[in-house]
Formats: sequence, structure tokens, C-alpha cells
Amino acid sequence: MIISISGGKGGTGKSTVSTNLAILLQEFTLVDLDVEAPNDHILLNVKLTDGIPVKLFKPKFNHEYCTGCGKCAEVCNDSAIILNREGRPILLEELCAGCTACKLVCPVEKAIEEDFKVVGYIYENETSYGFKLITGELLEGEERTYKVLLETKRKALKEGKNLIFDTAAGAGNSIFKALEGSDIVVAVTEPTPFGARDLEKILYTTSYLKLKTVIVINKSGIGDEEEIVDLSEKYGYPIVGRIPYSEGVIRSYFSKTPVVKTKLPEAEVFQEIKERILEEVKCS
Ligand code: SF4
Ligand code: SF4
Repeated sequence: MIISISGGKGGTGKSTVSTNLAILLQEFTLVDLDVEAPNDHILLNVKLTDGIPVKLFKPKFNHEYCTGCGKCAEVCNDSAIILNREGRPILLEELCAGCTACKLVCPVEKAIEEDFKVVGYIYENETSYGFKLITGELLEGEERTYKVLLETKRKALKEGKNLIFDTAAGAGNSIFKALEGSDIVVAVTEPTPFGARDLEKILYTTSYLKLKTVIVINKSGIGDEEEIVDLSEKYGYPIVGRIPYSEGVIRSYFSKTPVVKTKLPEAEVFQEIKERILEEVKCS
């Protein structure tokens, strides 16, 4: 079973929901696909170790063999190759998407050698709560989010069948890819006009992908929930839980003690959310 936790914008509490659900569900692997800013390991007090590099192809030009025909520069859609005064190619590394087209069109053997650059890392670590955490992390300054996300997801899918994907905020292309194949999507939102606006984007995305979806309202009590209820009715996606905005939840966040490991009344709310999610999946 794949449960994806998503949210239209950052800071809605996706990671809080993901980590607490992972503790309650136990036989699931938690996968942090928020590769630009992974933070499940912080909430779970896990040190990321033994990262596996995510590599991207880049051409290495061998000017000894290159004839200066310019075909590599012509085919590069990302304008990552320029020709110098002598007509020899030079790579603008930060623009290279690693598509290998230049190597494929080069008519001269050995003029382009294969080289790689590391754009991120995948970590696989045990948590002290009895489940595994897989984390994708994009290197600072890198833009190849998609590559790190896909490699992390691929690794997770090879590892096990019961997965919780903590996806990035937003509703862009990489979110489409992260959500693909989910049995259920949990859209986390907050009762504010911004929260409702961003929730609609994610609900539109999941309805387009025809994915079963439920809504969790975090920070319940800080604002009017009418817009969220309207969206729930409009898309036919039920609200399966309301996590109150409370001092206890905030304290647990900063002390890195997951709510479900405290005696806070909110721990029961997460338990109910878990039950509702499992019921919804069974109904599908
Ligand atoms: S690998 Fe693709 S993006 Fe990179 S230089 Fe070659 S053609 Fe351009
Ligand atoms: S396609 Fe090959 S031979 Fe032609 S300029 Fe590029 S590297 Fe040189």
C-alpha cells in the first residue's frame, strides 16, 4: 500500500502527519520525497548516514579527437554547449540536464567521454521507532529535483510494498510523479485563505490523476474552515481529521518528540486519522 502525504504549500504540517502516521502504522517505510528540504529525519531525530550519490551524466570533451563539427552544440536543447574560437565545444555544466543527446549524435569515437556529476544523495536509515526512513536530498545549488526524486522513489519501490511518501509542497510536475501509483493521498491543509487556495491546487491534481484523496486540517481552530469544507464537498474528498492548534503539538515539534509518543489528547486524533485512512483504502 502506498500512502502519499501532500500539501499545497510548505509549513502546513505534512511532515508532522507523515512521521506520526509512520509510527502508528509501523510496518511501513517512510520516504521523504521533499528532496529540496527533507526534514522527516529532523523530526525523528535520525542522523543521515551512508548516502548513495545520485549521479547525472555529463559529457567530457576530448579535444584530441574532436573535429569541431558542432553537432553536439546543435542538438543540446539546454544550450549547455558553446563552441570556442577554434570551434571546440565547452560545457556549461550548470545548464546540462544529462540527457546524453550530445554523446549520441557525436560522429567521432572517443570525442565525448562519459563523466558524471553528483546532484544529490539517497539515505537509508533505521529510526528508533522500528521502521525505516529513506530520504532523498538534492545538493544545495542543484536544480535537478526531478532526478533525485525519481531515483529515491525507485529505490523505495524496490525495497518494500508498504510505503508512506512525504512529498514536496506545491502541485508542479515533480508532485505528479511523486503521487503517481498512490493508493491514497492525504492532503494536509490549514484553515486560512492561503491554505484553501493551495489545497484546491492539490485536489485538482489528485482528481486529474484519479487518486483517492482525503483531507486533514492541521492547526484547526486558527481560522474559518468553511472554504475547506466547501472544497471537500466540491471534490467529494472527505475530511478525515482535524489536528488542533495547541501548545502541546508545538512543544512536541520543537522537542522532536512525535505527538503519538506523548500523552497529549492530540495523540488520539492521529490514531483516528490512521483508522480513517485505512478504512478509505479498504473501500476502494
Ligand atoms: S547531456 Fe544533454 S543537456 Fe548535457 S550537454 Fe549533452 S545534450 Fe546538452
Ligand atoms: S559532435 Fe563530437 S566531434 Fe563534433 S564538435 Fe561535438 S564533440 Fe566534437
